[in-house]
Amino acid sequence: MFVEGFKVESPHVRYGAGEIESEYRYDTTEVAPSPEGTGWVVRPKSVTYNFKTSTAVPKLGVMLVGWGGNNGTTLTAGVIANRLAISWATKEKVQKANYFGSLTQASAIRVGSYNGEEIYAPFKSLVPMVNPNDIVFGGWDISSLNLADAMGRAKVLDIDLQKQLRVYMESMVPLPGIYNPDFIAANQGSRANNVIKGTKKEQVEQIIKDIREFKEKNKVDKVVVLWTANTERYSDVVVGLNDTMDNLLASLDKNMAEISPSSMYAIACVTEGIPFINGSPQNTFVPGLIELAIKKNSLIGGDDFKSGQTKMKSVLVDFLVGAGIKPTSIASYNHLGNNDGMNLSAPQVFRSKEISKSGVVDDMVASNGILYNPGEHPDHVIVIKYVPYVGDSKRAMDEYTSEIFMGGRNTIVLHNTCEDSLLAAPIILDLVLLAELSTRIQLKAQGQEKFHSFHPVATILSYLSKAPLVPPGTPVVNALAKQRAMLENILRACVGLAPENNMMLEHK
Ligand code: NAD
Repeated sequence: MFVEGFKVESPHVRYGAGEIESEYRYDTTEVAPSPEGTGWVVRPKSVTYNFKTSTAVPKLGVMLVGWGGNNGTTLTAGVIANRLAISWATKEKVQKANYFGSLTQASAIRVGSYNGEEIYAPFKSLVPMVNPNDIVFGGWDISSLNLADAMGRAKVLDIDLQKQLRVYMESMVPLPGIYNPDFIAANQGSRANNVIKGTKKEQVEQIIKDIREFKEKNKVDKVVVLWTANTERYSDVVVGLNDTMDNLLASLDKNMAEISPSSMYAIACVTEGIPFINGSPQNTFVPGLIELAIKKNSLIGGDDFKSGQTKMKSVLVDFLVGAGIKPTSIASYNHLGNNDGMNLSAPQVFRSKEISKSGVVDDMVASNGILYNPGEHPDHVIVIKYVPYVGDSKRAMDEYTSEIFMGGRNTIVLHNTCEDSLLAAPIILDLVLLAELSTRIQLKAQGQEKFHSFHPVATILSYLSKAPLVPPGTPVVNALAKQRAMLENILRACVGLAPENNMMLEHK
């Protein structure tokens, strides 16, 4: 049975006027070598945490870098269509706007059982969240096309829907962006007619000014900025240039060439205490920038939306390794024909994508020492080709070969066809909604005096990221089910609910 919402009744939770307070017992284990040196000892450990979640849901502004691209236009159009409850004719049926593909808006959590029946509720009913229909969109693009024409250029949404949306999107024009041809493919040059002039420092100052003006003009309480612009090449991490916060800021002053546009938007946001999320694979968050975000306690998250092939991979390999089956070769081919594909046809830019797609099975492989020797890894190859005709309808073909019982081989082949931007847009929505939410949560562990926010490097967003950014020294989790459980269980803790344990002892 599905219920729209619920309230927790417990001595461990208090729903106050402006906040929800909860007390939560965090049960984990401590592992250490045995004193005799002959094995390992595991000791259960319980720590009580207190959570405080502000229920003051703000009016949220979202500024997209690359607003006029396929993802930017598709998301903006999708939210307007939902807000206005627009429907449109396809050749099959009359389609209504929805938020399918969004974890927060279209997925459910189990809340318990009633008369032996499982009860589910919307994910978003756990704690108060911004309603996506209320988001005000804005942003930058190096192409000056208004959002209505840019939606047409993207060729993603049905034409009948586009016709209805034009009137709302014509007046939306991206602000000039920071353009540096050295960081993206040369084939993007013809698009760049809307760029900020000046030194790097002046460009960053302009971004700060843009954010302040957007906030003021739209009367929004909070802003989140998200990079959905072209994939950039990696920037070199060099001692003295961008390895520390001070060096990075000094290099900005000196107009050093190797500071990428994405890092510059991020510097502007972190300086202003505005959450910044990177939806592309490049190393926007160079060490100096991570240090800056930590010093300013300003949320950063990323990298690279986990939308299609990698999402499947982080499910399938988790299943195989978890089943005691040994993947030995993973070959992934993609072809796509949108502007992202054209940009990725430049080798130095493709390399960023290759890196971000490559690490995704590492944690699963490392988890099973029965199947893999230390350091052993399956062969893993990633190919991306630009095929203009298929447009945004990306093809992903994967072949997984595994060793099974008694030397047998198992080969699984997947062919995944989907509009890339229709997968990415709801993920962008989740990223901004969860980033906003996480800035309203405070916690403290038993023994700590003061509440604090989550670490500014937002691992809570890792379900949505292909290469999750984590604080230095933190393990990277790629397995999708674990990432979802982490997110859901943290939100459950905020309302004093135990993690979902699936034990169903009452029926045993
Ligand atoms: P797109 O090329 O259609 O859009 C990118 C937009 O960014 C373009 O309009 C471009 O003009 C603009 N732009 C480029 N550099 C800019 C800058 N410095 N400042 C402001 N604007 C700039 O691409 P897309 O399909 O919307 O994808 C966007 C990004 O998301 C890509 O990097 C892609 O790799 C990444 N991504 C997409 C998916 C997905 O669509 N499923 C998944 C993972 C990652």
